[in-house]
Amino acid sequence: MPVPDPATKPARKRILTGDRPTSEAFHLGNYVGTLANRVRLQDEYETFLLLADLHLLTTRTTDLEEIGHNIHGLVLDYLSAGIDHAKTTIYLQSLVPEVLELTWIFMSLVSVPRAQRIPTLKEQVRDLKLESASMALLAYPILQAADILMVKGDLVPVGKDQLSHIELTRETARRFNDFFGPVFPVPEGLVGQVATLPGLDGKAKMGKSLGNAIFLTDDAQTIERKVMSMYTDPTRIHATDPGHLRGNPVFMYHDAFNDDREEVEDLKKRYRKGKVGDVEVKRLLAQALNRFLDPIRERRASFAARPGLVDEIIREGSARAREECRRTLAEAREAMGLTYFRDATTVQVTR
Ligand code: ATP
Ligand code: MG
Repeated sequence: MPVPDPATKPARKRILTGDRPTSEAFHLGNYVGTLANRVRLQDEYETFLLLADLHLLTTRTTDLEEIGHNIHGLVLDYLSAGIDHAKTTIYLQSLVPEVLELTWIFMSLVSVPRAQRIPTLKEQVRDLKLESASMALLAYPILQAADILMVKGDLVPVGKDQLSHIELTRETARRFNDFFGPVFPVPEGLVGQVATLPGLDGKAKMGKSLGNAIFLTDDAQTIERKVMSMYTDPTRIHATDPGHLRGNPVFMYHDAFNDDREEVEDLKKRYRKGKVGDVEVKRLLAQALNRFLDPIRERRASFAARPGLVDEIIREGSARAREECRRTLAEAREAMGLTYFRDATTVQVTR
């Protein structure tokens, strides 16, 4: 009977982060919030990217047939944004069922009031107009802690909305280690260049499920249409009124995506003085976004033309992630003294 290695430490520092397959593409907020950091850091860190289909179930129990299609699209987006699947492990959460056992273990270390204090809980109930939170939604960040800690993640590149979850992950890791011995690292969150990109409607956060997003897959005309309908400075009635930049999503997008910095500075100066209309500012933004998206579109088309590629990536990545999870789970059980029937963690599961 194989006995697990004593608490192992991966050779290279690790990144774990993920996305819910709530739509078939990423949006600009996902890109600046986390995707860009993942691409930048994938050589330095051993990186695991998780497609969090179990997390999706916390807020949605209808139209589930489309999840497969969404997963496919998100993997294509990873690749077209610059993720290299030869370096980075891309996997599907539900193909690693052991993570749920780790979640259950962690649930015993987190009190109900602590889980209820997570700000995203109330926000999700409000934004998605849910009658109340399900048990799964309450446990959302605990499953996330298990995702991160099962691969012994050190760094978690996320948007600002997720930082409270990382804090809970840190507490859980510390608590486990204090109770049972040092099995887990205490991971850090890493917020992107823009902590939270606002939505087209001016709401605080662009979201896949919020109907206020520009997707990496939007074509040039769609970008133009969406940008032209964007929320701007509501106090400005005429193009000659001085405009406000603060809280104005059009300028936040210019700052994040327009590679022509001179143009952005010139527009800002003129906007403040009432010397440029919203239409021009938006037209130039649409052009800048299309410049930014063009190479991503090209790469996406070439990956999409390779049949079977995405399935193979997910199959291989999930097998690899599952190995990690099994190893970590065995260590956790060992540390906890759940050793009375060791075979429980080494039985071959066939799925
Ligand atoms: P949903 O609305 O379905 O929750 P989402 O747009 O919030 O979708 P997620 O899959 O929940 O996307 O999150 C993926 C990653 O993108 C997370 O790290 C999250 O913090 C980050 N992120 C999401 N929206 C933004 C945003 N507007 N600005 C910056 N980062 C974001
Ligand atoms: Mg989200």
